[in-house]
Amino acid sequence: MWRATILTLYPELFPGPLDASVLGRGASEGHWALEAVNIRDFSDNKYGSIDDTPAGGGAGLIMRADILANAIDSIDRAGRPIIALSPRGTPLTQAQAKALSLGPGLIALCGRFEGIDERLFEARNVEEISIGDFVLAGGEIAAMALIEACVRLLPGVLGSASSLGEESFEDGLLEYPHFTRPREFEGRAIPDVLLSGDHAKIAEWRREKAKEITRTRRPDLFKRFCESGPIRRQNDKDRER
Ligand code: SAH
Repeated sequence: MWRATILTLYPELFPGPLDASVLGRGASEGHWALEAVNIRDFSDNKYGSIDDTPAGGGAGLIMRADILANAIDSIDRAGRPIIALSPRGTPLTQAQAKALSLGPGLIALCGRFEGIDERLFEARNVEEISIGDFVLAGGEIAAMALIEACVRLLPGVLGSASSLGEESFEDGLLEYPHFTRPREFEGRAIPDVLLSGDHAKIAEWRREKAKEITRTRRPDLFKRFCESGPIRRQNDKDRER
């Protein structure tokens, strides 16, 4: 079973949204499990504090390496990577979520205040992951985003496995646009090709739309897609045929 352990000062926030919908059902069916550990339980003083002022001065408080190390050491790691959520981390990608979903799970360390004493990262082999170029008040929502991205990929969690294969990022492109009934909405019709019943033409239209949307919205992704070697281009040609 895929397991997530969260180290946080706010264990009451979990499972929160991770218990809703398909993820909640996945957990009750035993596909994955979540456990939140309160960092404060590892405080070494009667005040329950786990942070201190920054060496060298400056604003804010820093989470202590020794206390976080004790919290980490209390967990049965079972081969799982320790990931600190941090705006300084490598940006989370779908490929990374996929890779993590294929492993035994993860241990997520949620920062608060100014951040974490730098020495912890090397001492406990902690990896840093960011969920985007913006600053949150704490790592909890970022950990939820990371865990949700992984868990929805686990076998048995999402209803239809085929809906995973055509998603945004799966083949380096953003997803094509979707439509459903009514056939006309406020004067806007569903594109004729989607009602044609011609599956090859529909696939071709979707592929072109996916490319167009990626090119205009995410030139960075599109550039990578175009440069991604003969195999992908050949797959693309095969699909277009
Ligand atoms: N002083 C830090 C920001 C601290 S924000 C800096 O300038 O880098 C407090 C905590 O929120 C961080 O320790 C981290 O755990 C979390 N956090 C904030 N933004 C994040 C992001 N984009 N991705 C992941 N975690 C984030």
